[in-house]
Amino acid sequence: MFPALSTDVLIVGGGIAGLWLNARLRQSGYATLLVESASLGGGQSVKSQGIIHGGTKYALHGALSGASEAIADMPRRWREALAGSGELDLSGVRRLSDAHYLWSPGTLAGKLTSFFASKAVRARVEPVKGEALPAALQHADFRGSVYRLDELVLDVPGLIERLAELAGPGLLAAREIAPLREAGELAGLSVDGRAIRAQRIVFCAGAGNAELLATLGLSQPAMQRRPLHMVMLKAPTLKPLYAHCLGGGPKPRLTVTSHPAADGQWVWYLGGDLAEAEGVARDEAQQIATARRELNELLPWIDLAQARWATLRVDRAEPAQSALARPDNAFLAGQGRLLVGWPTKLALAPDLTERIFASLERDGVRPTAHPPLPALPRPPLARPAWEELLP
Ligand code: FAD
Repeated sequence: MFPALSTDVLIVGGGIAGLWLNARLRQSGYATLLVESASLGGGQSVKSQGIIHGGTKYALHGALSGASEAIADMPRRWREALAGSGELDLSGVRRLSDAHYLWSPGTLAGKLTSFFASKAVRARVEPVKGEALPAALQHADFRGSVYRLDELVLDVPGLIERLAELAGPGLLAAREIAPLREAGELAGLSVDGRAIRAQRIVFCAGAGNAELLATLGLSQPAMQRRPLHMVMLKAPTLKPLYAHCLGGGPKPRLTVTSHPAADGQWVWYLGGDLAEAEGVARDEAQQIATARRELNELLPWIDLAQARWATLRVDRAEPAQSALARPDNAFLAGQGRLLVGWPTKLALAPDLTERIFASLERDGVRPTAHPPLPALPRPPLARPAWEELLP
């Protein structure tokens, strides 16, 4: 039997949500312990495209209503953290691109006119031409318009590594998690048979939240999964590109981000409409053929002869949403000692943490003294998907 442990806040899930929360709580003097059943970042976080959205793309379907959304402030907050002057010191984390771009392949002027009719949008985008274009679009045959969005793109594996560093000794690799009840109340969790008591238990286990809630006999808050079928390709001819390519619909036709592979080549990671419903219905070969056709049509000057391709199926996990729910805030629900959250976007991890701090404040949960943690089995860092699939 392991000796029992106690902490102020026991966090389940070591993705961006849990790790960000953990680092902020520790910085504020709380004792924390974060429990992870697989690898740090290996759920959705390291499979994400790493774009720190400011919400501009929502204007494409009319959902951007001004500065009130939490997401509008995210690029600034992350930039400050990356500069070492923000809420966390992320100064060593690599910024892959200082901007994300919006690119219309030339036939969509009408769509863009209504898009730019919004003042909120005009304040956030800047047209770019010539040498200011992303390198992959600098070609004599390129036709279309490109706009620079004030949204940065991060190296997520490096971000997760930094947050794991900020976690100090408070990370625990675990398999079996069960409720620990005392006098009929949830007092903590039993983790692989070890009792861990805490003032608050926070589930931020992404797609794992539903199952964790079920172990407590709870079905609320309800969760939804949104499946995606992403594509990645690696070739010595690829130059970095970070852009939403607009199609006729409300969602980008293609969202391209570029990630440095260990062998020095770039990997293009393709999402957007390509990866949604119709893409999910395609098998791997069909999905790769579709992606290849898209790139040949949109960027015919890029030589893909040596490209190696792979696809990745991954679900976004979110609170079940009614049609009225807003997509651009983190979600938090609480009952008794238990808090359950989904950031809904990597970019919104700071917003989820802020909501949890507000809940602690409201309930008078303050840092208390706990014995130091013993040496604990530490969960590994996730390997980037492109290193697994395109080594
Ligand atoms: P996760 O990263 O999924 O982490 C949950 C962790 O909990 C995992 O490590 C898992 O192993 C662990 N866990 C699960 N069950 C248990 C259990 N029972 N016990 C212990 N641990 C458990 N957002 C953006 O802002 N920008 C983007 O560009 C972007 N691109 C995306 C692209 C894709 C393909 C996807 C799928 C998502 C994207 N997102 C993006 C959304 C973003 O990735 C997620 O909102 C965010 O990563 C969720 O973080 P999380 O910590 O809640 O969950």
